[in-house]
Order: sequence, then structure tokens, then C-alpha cells
Amino acid sequence: MLELNLNKIVDIQLVQSNEVKGSYHMEKEGLYCCMDFLQGHNLAIDVLVTDRHKQINKWIREVHPYIKHYFDTWHVAKGFRKKFEKLGKQKDCELVSEWQKSIINHLYWCASTTPDDDSELVQAKWLSLDNHVHDVHRRHSTKFPKCSHGRLRRQERKKKWFKRHTKASEKLTSLLTKPTHLKDMTRLSGAHQTSSLESFHNVVINFAPKAVAFSYKGMKSRLKLAALHFNENSDRPQAVTKQDVERYDVIQPKYKSGGYLVRKVHVKATYGYVEQLLQETIEQCNTGGSDLQEEDPKPLCSAFERPGKATAIQQHKSRFSTT
Ligand SMILES: [Zn+2]
Repeated sequence: MLELNLNKIVDIQLVQSNEVKGSYHMEKEGLYCCMDFLQGHNLAIDVLVTDRHKQINKWIREVHPYIKHYFDTWHVAKGFRKKFEKLGKQKDCELVSEWQKSIINHLYWCASTTPDDDSELVQAKWLSLDNHVHDVHRRHSTKFPKCSHGRLRRQERKKKWFKRHTKASEKLTSLLTKPTHLKDMTRLSGAHQTSSLESFHNVVINFAPKAVAFSYKGMKSRLKLAALHFNENSDRPQAVTKQDVERYDVIQPKYKSGGYLVRKVHVKATYGYVEQLLQETIEQCNTGGSDLQEEDPKPLCSAFERPGKATAIQQHKSRFSTT
């Protein structure tokens, strides 16, 4: 759980799928434990931003109705992108692919330019897109009467617009105006984005690479280390050259398929938490600290029956024997 104003990890929960009813239930259980931890420290949650996990949505609505619960725009955009990609592949709907990037940009714009509590306005802005893609830029709605882009330049006017009563137009309109999608729009988190949480996940991968299997305690320790490292380094300033010019990197990630990203280069990471950890370790060893005596859940494979080695080998041989 990340505190978005401070950009610090405030709690970490490790949930193993056999502790709950299956992997889908892990996220809710994790959130449940995090909230329990915060409440135990008299910290109340006013605003919560999560992805669109259905169970979490229901649970917050029913059990914590006083919490303002928003969906992270990045996650909503990801869901939309998939739908537009699918539609763009249909016959006579190729134009959708050409517009896909602009539509996703519009989604971010709707969220970032509207106060979180004005759900009607964000919905009206989103719906104005249905007119805009048909080259209509006025008389959208009373809440959002006209597009904010001003007069379109000659180059922009040459854009391929959608024409009403064509397959592409009708399919796109129905996607943009689908009630469940409109409902999602009203829940977009404009003020708070969880992109820092993605950065934290990258730190976790450094400390606990996915290709290696760790014991429960091993994994928990590595998660805690990742949080300490992240918290110490989350506000690093941008690095500068000897001439005092801010440093940037240009990267071409695979998912951009040839496109590029400009990224700030930060000053080097520090490891002050290591010294503190060493001192704490010595103290725990001297006092027999309780953290080391926590009980682990059973390993995942404990639910399965393990055959005797001899039986397994015999079955393997009989399966592959040629007669
Ligand atoms: Zn427009």
C-alpha cells in the first residue's frame, strides 16, 4: 500500500493463494490486512485508489462506504486499449486503430482536468468524444458544451473522421457510450495516479526475481527490503551534468514498438537502510526478537499428494515403454 501524497510504501502484505480461496481472492485479502494494519495504528483512509477488481469494489462499497474509492486511470485505460484493439481488427473498423491513441489520451485528459468529485463533468467530457471523432465540436451537452481544443489547424482538419451510420462509427459509439464504461468514467482517479506503485514493483523484481522460487519468509523479507529501498529513494532529485544541465535518457521499450520515451535520470540510489538493518539484526539476535518466530502458511504443493518415488518411476517407465 502506497501513500500517494508522500510517495512512500506504508504497508506490505504477502498472501499465498492457498491461504485464501484462490489467486483471485489474494488481492482482497492483502488489502483487508493492509487496512487492518492502518486502523490498528489509528490511521483512517479518506481516499483509496485501486484497479477495477470487482470484489474489492463491492467490499469497499459495503463495508467501508465512507471511503472515496477511485479506479486508477492507467488500469482503466489498459482495459479500454484492449477493447479498441479488438474492434480495430474487425472488418471495416480499421479507422478505430488510427484513433486509438488519441482516444486513450482523451481518457487521461478527462481524468486529469476534472476534480475527483465532479463525476458528471468527467462523463460529459468523455461523451463529447463521440461527437469529436465525427468532426462535431460543439453542442455536446449542457455540462460540457464544446471541445476545449479551439480552432483546429489545417493539418488537423485533414484527419480521417468517422461517418455516422457506418459500421466503424456505430461500433465505436456503442463502445464509448456503454453504461458500464460510463460508470467507470465517474470513478477515475484524476488527482492521484498509481504509477509510483509500478516503480515499486520494479524494485521488488530486483530484490525478488520472478524466475527464482523463495520460501515464504524469504519472500516476505525481500518485499520488506524492497520497501525500505523504495522509501529511501522515492524522492531522489534529477541528476545534473557538470555544466548543471538536467540529465535525461531516451529509451525505446519493446511495448512502444519503435516509439520512444524520455526519462529523467535521477541521482544515484543510497543504501542507508542497510546500516540500520544490521544494527536491528544484532539487537534481535541478542534479545531473541519475535519477528523470526512467526508461523508460515504451508507451501503451495502441500495440498497435493506426493507419490512414492519408486511408484512414480515405475508409472513413468510403463507409460513410455515400447512393446
Ligand atoms: Zn473536438
